[in-house]
Amino acid sequence: KLKAKRNNALNAERLVASILKRDITALSKAITLVESKNPNHLEKARTIINSCLPHANNSIRIGITGVPGVGKSTFIETFGKHLTNLGKRVAVLAVDPSSAITKGSILGDKTRMEALVKDENAFIRPSASGGSLGGVARKTRETITLCEAAGFDVIIIETVGVGQSETTVHSMVDFFLLLKLAGAGDELQGIKRGIIEMADTIAINKADGANMQAAKLAKVEFTRALHFYPAKDSGWQPKVTSCSALENKGIDTIWTIIAEYVESTKANNFFSDKRNNQNKYWLIQTIEAQLKSDFFNKSHIQEALTQQLALIDSNKTTPFAAADYLLSLSKQ
Ligand code: GDP
Repeated sequence: KLKAKRNNALNAERLVASILKRDITALSKAITLVESKNPNHLEKARTIINSCLPHANNSIRIGITGVPGVGKSTFIETFGKHLTNLGKRVAVLAVDPSSAITKGSILGDKTRMEALVKDENAFIRPSASGGSLGGVARKTRETITLCEAAGFDVIIIETVGVGQSETTVHSMVDFFLLLKLAGAGDELQGIKRGIIEMADTIAINKADGANMQAAKLAKVEFTRALHFYPAKDSGWQPKVTSCSALENKGIDTIWTIIAEYVESTKANNFFSDKRNNQNKYWLIQTIEAQLKSDFFNKSHIQEALTQQLALIDSNKTTPFAAADYLLSLSKQ
C-alpha cells in the first residue's frame, strides 16, 4: 500500500511538471483525475492541485451566460479566436448542471467551436458531468487552477441561464458577461433581475442584418434600465454593448471593456478582494459538501435514515426529531 502511495505521488509529480511545461495531454489527464469518482484518483488530484496552486491565479476569469440559442458557442469561438490572435492562450470550460441528467454536455461542445478546437493556443473542456451543481462547480474550480498552472491567460466559463448555475459561475470568475437578444419579447421583464445585477457587461448579440435596428434599441433600453440598479462594490458601471458573433463585429470592443474592468478593479483592489472572498466562500462550500457526503455515505446513517423516513410517512415522528436523532448517530 505504501508503495502504491509512493507511485501515486511520483506520477502526480510527473504530471505537475508536464502541466507547468504547458503539456495539454498532461492537463487533460489531471482534469480527468479531478472529475473521477475513484478515491485513489481524487487523492492524486489533490496532490496535483496543491502543487499547481503556487503557479495559478494569473489569468482573467470570464463567465458567460445567456439563454440557449443566444449564440454563446458562436460568441466564444469568435471571441476566443480574437484573443488567440492577440497572442493569448484561452481555456474554455463549462458549468452545466443538467449534464448530470442528460449524460453529456451540450455546453462547451467541441463540434460547435471547430476553429477554436484546432487552435493550439486554445483548450476546450466540456462540463464535468455527474453529481450536483455543487459537485460540478467544485471540479470546474479545480480545473481553473490546473489551466492557470498550464499558462492559460484567459479562462472562459460558459453556463446556460437556468437555475442556480449563473450564481455558481459568478462565484468563480472576475468578470461576468450576459449575452442577450434584441427584440426577444419583453426586453426587461424576460430576464431574471438577479442575473442583470451580476452582469458586468450586457452584450446584445446578433446585431447584424435585419436585426441591427432592434439591437440599437435594445442597447438604449438596457442602458437606461441599468441606471435603476444599485451601484456595484467594484465601483464599475456595467456597460451595455452590441455585437455579432457570427460576423465578428463588436467582439474587440468587448475585450477592451474587459481589459478596462481589470485595470480599474486592480487599481481599487476590488479584483484581489473579490478573489479572496471567493476563496473564503469556496472554503465553506467545500467543508459543507464534505460533511454532507461523509454523513450520508455512512451505512448506519443510511439504514437509520430509511427507518426515520418510514416513521415520518406514518406520522410517528417529526422531521426535527428525526434529524436530531440522525445527527446524534453520526457523532458516535
Ligand atoms: P448557444 O445555444 O447560446 O450556444 O447558441 P449558438 O452559438 O449555438 O447559436 C445559436 C444559433 O444562432 C446558431 O444558428 C448560430 O449560427 C446563430 N448565431 C450565433 N451568433 C449569431 C450572430 O451574431 N448573428 C446571427 N445572425 N446569428 C448568430
